[in-house]
Amino acid sequence: MSCGGKDQSEIDAVWAVMVEVQQDLLRMLTRRIGSQDEAVDVLHDFYVKVLSHLDDVRDTDKLRGWMRRVLESTLIDHFRDQSKRRRAEAGYHLIEPQTEGLEPNLDDLDHAVCVCLYKLLPTLKSEYADVLWRADLVGEPREKIASELGVSESNLRVRLHRARQALKQRLQEVCQICPIHGYMDCSDDCLMADKKPAEPPSEL
Ligand SMILES: [Zn+2]
Repeated sequence: MSCGGKDQSEIDAVWAVMVEVQQDLLRMLTRRIGSQDEAVDVLHDFYVKVLSHLDDVRDTDKLRGWMRRVLESTLIDHFRDQSKRRRAEAGYHLIEPQTEGLEPNLDDLDHAVCVCLYKLLPTLKSEYADVLWRADLVGEPREKIASELGVSESNLRVRLHRARQALKQRLQEVCQICPIHGYMDCSDDCLMADKKPAEPPSEL
């Protein structure tokens, strides 16, 4: 079977990368949170925020830093909710507010986001991967990228915008992959079952 000029082995390779990215992120979050169930929720919240706000990121911002901040705030929200819940369960006066874990290790989060983008970029068209790599991961100045690519800065802005849209689509697909079972092998009682849309993602 082929679609859009890609053969099945290329499509399988892209899926394998997406599953790997999901598993990387879930492992990192599970380690940090101490519960895989809660990590699945946090991972899902992270994607919802990224996908719903990615279009608002200014083209002079770097996606890497922005996604790291989104991941950080998602984790902080989670720890806050969790400590509120614990206090409510234990009786408000019995224990001190728990702040432990409220400050996520930024290096860890940056590394996780960086690895995620690093693995996903090669699944995009190379002209998109290249511009995202330079602008959003490495953070080269826009003028330098434009002059090295031989395009105007406004052309570069257009290309970067399209590249981010392609990445957004890819993230949308990653978001639908179960980090525990991959895409195809989920049962109805899986934690991810209620987080997936009814329709499978579009063909790549
Ligand atoms: Zn599953």
